Amino acid sequence: MSSSVSITSCYAFVPLEAAGLEDLRDELLSFGRARDMRGLTLIATEGINATVSGTAESIEEWKVRLKDLVGEIEWKDSVASKQPFERWSVKIKSEIVGLKDPAICVSGKRGHLSPQEWQSMFERDDVVVVDARNAYEVAIGKFRSAIDPGIDAFHEFPAWAKNAALPKEKKILMYCTGGIRCEKALLTLEAQGYHDVYQLEGGILAYLERFPHGDFEGECFVFDHRVAVDQHLRPSQTYGLCPHCGNAGDRAITCVCGKEQKICGDCEREETRKTCSKRCRNEVQRRVRNS
Ligand SMILES: [Zn+2]
Ligand SMILES: [Zn+2]
Repeated sequence: MSSSVSITSCYAFVPLEAAGLEDLRDELLSFGRARDMRGLTLIATEGINATVSGTAESIEEWKVRLKDLVGEIEWKDSVASKQPFERWSVKIKSEIVGLKDPAICVSGKRGHLSPQEWQSMFERDDVVVVDARNAYEVAIGKFRSAIDPGIDAFHEFPAWAKNAALPKEKKILMYCTGGIRCEKALLTLEAQGYHDVYQLEGGILAYLERFPHGDFEGECFVFDHRVAVDQHLRPSQTYGLCPHCGNAGDRAITCVCGKEQKICGDCEREETRKTCSKRCRNEVQRRVRNS
């Protein structure tokens, strides 16, 4: 395998015919298989959401194919030395990002700020910054002074917002990893009576491309083997995927089997979780029981 893998993410809210989704899925499945691509693509009647990896050439072909399908689309590109995904999958879903509120329907751009515009507003205005991601993502990096809703899944966002009592007279700036969650989070806040709401276009990934070591502090959690990317969008050197809970882990341990592994701070408190895998954990539990 080549020493560099290209990775690209994109999403588009465009109406796709329900009747055509199965054909589209099959076509995209063959497209990726023919090029030995990896990654996850979600399709729904509201659009497409994909993060895929492959050779630079296959990624170029992928972009041409998707542009043909949904029109102009923005890409977030990065590279890694190893495949970040195990397999190639294309799935039909009810939503391309799960808010579970059918009343929220994205069409066109609303309140988008380019990283440059975001940066000026962030520095200049009296703003409230809201992180639309889950708590385990916020834990390893966020914008300076951003509010962490402390949610475990995106569909908890509307209920959180309802109780948060954010100041209605202030500008609210929202962000997520690549921008897709904010598309729905912004409409949710508007439906709750907020009228001065903005979203970071392209999310943290687009911001870091432009402003590494700016107002985003720490690393950005991503949903693949890289676990996180650093300020220069390189695979994290700090975090590994905790084998016990799936969160980002930065505690280096040596397992009973001899393997070096990163685990998270929570799991580190439990003796049997200072192991490299569920399997080794079971082994340690068995030894404890028998001793
Ligand atoms: Zn853990
Ligand atoms: Zn082990």
